Amino acid sequence: MTPSASTSFPLLAGEGLPPFEAITPEQVRQAIPLLLEQLNGELSALEARLEQRLSAASGGGQPLGWSEVMEPLHHLGERLRWSWGVVSHLNGVCNTPDLRDAHQSQQAAVVAFGSRAGQSRVIYQALEALQQQASQLDATQQRILAAELRDMQLRGVGLEGAEQEAFNATTTELARLASDFGNHVLDATNTWTLKLSDPSEVAGLPDSLKELLAQAARQAGQEPGDADASAAAGPWLLGLDMPRVVPFLKYSRRRDLRETVYRAQVARASSGDLNNGPLIERILALRLEQARRLGYANWAEVSLASKMAGSVAEVEQLLEELRLAAYPAAQQELEQLRQCASRHGAAEASELKPWDVSFWAEVLRQESFELDGEALRPWFPLEQVLQGLFGLCQRLFDIRIVSTDPGEAPTWHPDVRYFRVLDGASGAPLAGFYLDPFSRPGSKRGGAWMDECLGRGVSRAGEPVLPVAYLICNQSPPMGETPSLMTFDEVETLFHEFGHGLQHMLTTVERPQAAGINNVEWDAVELPSQFMENWCYDRNTLMGMARHWQTGEPLPEADYQKLLAARTFMGGSATLRQVHFALTDLRLHSQWMPDGGQSPEQLRRELAPTTTVLEPIPEDAFLCAFSHIFAGGYSAGYYSYKWAEVLSADAFSAFEEVGLDVEDEVVATGRRFRDTVLSLGGSRSPAEVFEAFRGRPPSSEALIRHSGLKAVPQAR
Ligand SMILES: [Zn+2]
Repeated sequence: MTPSASTSFPLLAGEGLPPFEAITPEQVRQAIPLLLEQLNGELSALEARLEQRLSAASGGGQPLGWSEVMEPLHHLGERLRWSWGVVSHLNGVCNTPDLRDAHQSQQAAVVAFGSRAGQSRVIYQALEALQQQASQLDATQQRILAAELRDMQLRGVGLEGAEQEAFNATTTELARLASDFGNHVLDATNTWTLKLSDPSEVAGLPDSLKELLAQAARQAGQEPGDADASAAAGPWLLGLDMPRVVPFLKYSRRRDLRETVYRAQVARASSGDLNNGPLIERILALRLEQARRLGYANWAEVSLASKMAGSVAEVEQLLEELRLAAYPAAQQELEQLRQCASRHGAAEASELKPWDVSFWAEVLRQESFELDGEALRPWFPLEQVLQGLFGLCQRLFDIRIVSTDPGEAPTWHPDVRYFRVLDGASGAPLAGFYLDPFSRPGSKRGGAWMDECLGRGVSRAGEPVLPVAYLICNQSPPMGETPSLMTFDEVETLFHEFGHGLQHMLTTVERPQAAGINNVEWDAVELPSQFMENWCYDRNTLMGMARHWQTGEPLPEADYQKLLAARTFMGGSATLRQVHFALTDLRLHSQWMPDGGQSPEQLRRELAPTTTVLEPIPEDAFLCAFSHIFAGGYSAGYYSYKWAEVLSADAFSAFEEVGLDVEDEVVATGRRFRDTVLSLGGSRSPAEVFEAFRGRPPSSEALIRHSGLKAVPQAR
């Protein structure tokens, strides 16, 4: 970038903390096309140079080196990441219609540039040439190169002529099918409604849900009266979206209505114009074709090629361990629900149906430990939770976290704070992070996430660049004199995102392509985040930070015990449910054949007797709404949730083994976690990193125990 362009467009500065306030929608529209034009030009120049070098090298000249291929490629990608990363970030945290429009107007061109680089034939050949001298590369370089080659191969770059044309055409068709699938689910969800007018029809519902339903009636407003619906007088409009259907099934005392809504929910997108059944068969058949074109036996192998799990058999093994432990527990849990229904004299006690499960689970949960999430808020003011979190990090990882004064770093909102991370021993600066804790409805995306602001590297002037993370949460803001008081879930979420942040910030990898979370297989990427969640249940950590914001009283012991009990409540059913989804996904992508005489739904039903304790009802067409694997990125990857939990639970159990109260041992184990998982990132295989920390391969024992289950020995 020329200096004049970067001064007139702060969005093109390309390094340093972004000047957020200077980045306007207008600038996005002007600067991004300019940047893409430059990058496309430089990519063409790089391709031309590599082409020359390749032919010179094949004629006996000097072989291609890392700095001729990987470094220029990285710099092209990094300039785009810096600029487009800021735009995407602001789009998530300071959204306005104008900014959203500007973001959307550039997105296709940004994606196109990524595809162009990722499918460049010359670059692929250059990488292959580098691969031939892999012995001269260090282990990190070899891993970066292997991942790059693999990703390009999976995009079909290695295919020739008609084969490649067919591959590309199928990729396009698959993208269209995925978007149709998702739209069908959305439309089927949105078209079904049920108007409730009699107060008896909302019996048992909490006020917040009644207000939501009344609000839906007001918005729909088809009939006079609907337009001024109120939570108390109705009417109330029920729908199939999660925020309405999940609490309705949990709280509604009207069994007939629970049945109606449940039947509609499980039959979504399975009939008429919105029927996803034919799309599922087509998607599976096309994925199988793509896999074979790429030289794999099935789509599951394609998915696993870029993951930590080594083979379909390995994933099946894990799922079977979890299934064996969860199945008897889920049966017992169902029996407990029956007994609970029977104690209440409910007619359904003799034969519970799927639409009864959430309801009786909620009754039992309240009777067993009356844990009111809202009531715990006063013990978790944000400032104290942060001190607890930072103190834990200091204790485990020997880092010191210090707040900066307002104005020391550019921000995008007055609520945002910037912190520095220092090495505990030397005091040397290691990293920084932004914390944007509060919800801002209307301008900030919901949920919580960690993202890269700056990666560890070297500036154009040759200075070291320290990593900086964005940590975004959506908790309640302070009100008047009352500070932000967090629910326990929000505390867990903050710890989770901070775990991702730690892996980004404490990396010691010199090569940016494998530093922090870069190049970490995605079934392993939740290891540090879920690991940190475990500490919220650790007595010392929790009791150290949970103090009433007004009285300073510690959290009552009884509440702590309830939190522990709530963690494993219905744990067998929850685990079994995930196993059912994961195994169905895996079998569909490894065993199902288009002409095998079995529909995908039949395959799922064949698995049901051993992976569910209440058989799916006849109209249950769950697959037709399984967007994760047919419209999202989880195909043959749904198992990743459990896979990563195995790693994080097992990592935490290293601390349990040495004794959570044995300070010296906890400290030593924490340092080892910092020096392996947090520091090595994507520079080694996740299995190697895990073993370096744990001294052995991962085991599912800890996860099973933490879920309140017992491992069942397996005949091998
Ligand atoms: Zn996460």
